[in-house]
Amino acid sequence: MKYLVLLTDGMSDLKIEKLGGKTIMQYANTPNMDYIAKNGVGGFIKTTPDGYYPGSDICNLTMMGFDPTKYYSGRSPLEAGSSGIDLGPNDMSFRCNLVTLDGDIMEDNSAHHVTNETGAKSVDALNEIFAGEGVEFHKGLGFRNLMVMRDVDFDLTTTAPHDIMGQSIKEHLPTGKGAERLIDIMQRSNKIFADGGYERANGVWFWGEGTRPSMPLFKDLYGLTSSVVAAVDLIRGIGKFAGMEIIDVPGATGFIDTNFEGNAEYALKAFETSDYVFLHVEAADEAGHMGVIEEKIKAVENIDSRMCPILLEGMKKFGDFRILVSPDHPTPVELRTHVAEPVPAIIYGTGVNPDENTKYDEFMTPSFFIEEGYKIADFFLKSTVING
Ligand SMILES: [Zn+2]
Repeated sequence: MKYLVLLTDGMSDLKIEKLGGKTIMQYANTPNMDYIAKNGVGGFIKTTPDGYYPGSDICNLTMMGFDPTKYYSGRSPLEAGSSGIDLGPNDMSFRCNLVTLDGDIMEDNSAHHVTNETGAKSVDALNEIFAGEGVEFHKGLGFRNLMVMRDVDFDLTTTAPHDIMGQSIKEHLPTGKGAERLIDIMQRSNKIFADGGYERANGVWFWGEGTRPSMPLFKDLYGLTSSVVAAVDLIRGIGKFAGMEIIDVPGATGFIDTNFEGNAEYALKAFETSDYVFLHVEAADEAGHMGVIEEKIKAVENIDSRMCPILLEGMKKFGDFRILVSPDHPTPVELRTHVAEPVPAIIYGTGVNPDENTKYDEFMTPSFFIEEGYKIADFFLKSTVING
């Protein structure tokens, strides 16, 4: 049996007045996802455990069948894993954003989207300052870089810079064990920007700290070979720690302009070596964060018209197959951020007896509700019959 998860990041939403009280999924024209709903079953998954925030890190761990309450150890280690940075048992990684500060005010969490060249130049300059101190900076893309501290025993709380835009950083500096050292590194780092030459970057901000996750391999948990198709470092990092093959797709951007067809084609190709493929598409989430209703509708319709036909036809060729379509969390376009509501999911294929649903949206009649979200993997992979 071949198992495909089509993970539509941030796709589910809330009712929108401008759309006549419909959600994006209800409003968008999605004949292919509706076909899957009509010929399969619909239900809901609680992807964010109580007490956790609905981040893509937490929610994608869940959707891949890993209990985040057991295996989540911070966001940046997942990104580090994707970049091939090794973390030892006593190392801690941080997201290092290049930011724009106006005095003490966090003016922009991305330093107004500096170029990759400026990001790389900053990392080189920072590494010169901290050489020999067990503090390493690693290049990412643009403003998104990483910092790793070797051999520390910290217990910290940090704040995401996009959560404090327009606020004084003084009230949001790191706290807890190790905070003093981290603040010292931040202050010394900021000196490199004194003479300019880094576009609008004039500071660094550390957040998303974490240690190396100790996750079991997907194969050990579920007995299947597996691949992940994703443009986003975070998802690729989870896949890497889970021992999945990481698939690169030309033209995949992790944005609303991604190569939808290519993503679908490479996912099908991955089944040559894998029984389980986790295909992650970011477009709807990005459109949700942009807060543009039309863009989110377009993203959902692009997933439906440019990916689903290829996937449906391709999967049917395998004979025995199952498809699961689900977001990781809602990213309501009018809120422009994630919420922790359960997500609507549809399952179609071998051993799945259709229920009464004919459309895929947030108001389906549920044939299942997965309270501990990570158990979706058992449900999807191990139930001989679904809705029997
Ligand atoms: Zn997400």
